[in-house]
Amino acid sequence: MNASHHPSDDLLWSYAAGSLDEPSSILIATHQSLCPACRAIVAKAESLGGELFEDLASEDIEAGSLAAVLARLDDIEDSSSIAAETIDDEAENISVPRPLKDYLPASVPSLPWRWLGPGVRYTAINTEARGPKIGLLRIAPGTKVPMHGHSGNEMTMVLAGGFTDATGSYQRGDVEAADGGLVHQPVADAGEECLCLVVTEGELQPTGMIAKILQPFFRF
Ligand SMILES: [Zn+2]
Repeated sequence: MNASHHPSDDLLWSYAAGSLDEPSSILIATHQSLCPACRAIVAKAESLGGELFEDLASEDIEAGSLAAVLARLDDIEDSSSIAAETIDDEAENISVPRPLKDYLPASVPSLPWRWLGPGVRYTAINTEARGPKIGLLRIAPGTKVPMHGHSGNEMTMVLAGGFTDATGSYQRGDVEAADGGLVHQPVADAGEECLCLVVTEGELQPTGMIAKILQPFFRF
């Protein structure tokens, strides 16, 4: 099943250029391991980036060369689909794709899960760099996560199960990008626990009364 909610092109190109922070890179790497469409965009960006670098090193880029660059982009389209096929697709059959698995010290059930609230557990993933926090969230089937806003950007990627909020329904591989303005109440789909990879820049900000009572639990 292909993902239907993808990271923005900006994020994919930043990832390809190596300019994303480590937690965001882990999420994008994990997403593209499940998403052939984004894998192709990253491959294209990497090829184009490499070619531009060579051009810069060997010649001045003239005004009007944008058309040439765009024409080249079309050429790269073909080679990127070949590159995508060489990636091991077995990752698609296991619950934790390899780019993420490398960061986990144990199997998912054996990680040090912290109770955040009824039906919600969280475990932090340690990265070396400073920056946004990254961790895994387990939400019991049918659980409503209290309504909350965000003081910074948040990216959530579904690894198992699914959830729905006002912006849509998210299944394995899907990425929801929330900016500081989004206030939402995700509800885990019935029937299966929802496992998500979450990258958060700021504190979550509870908005409802119950969420305010639960506020301590949102301090990842
Ligand atoms: Zn994608």
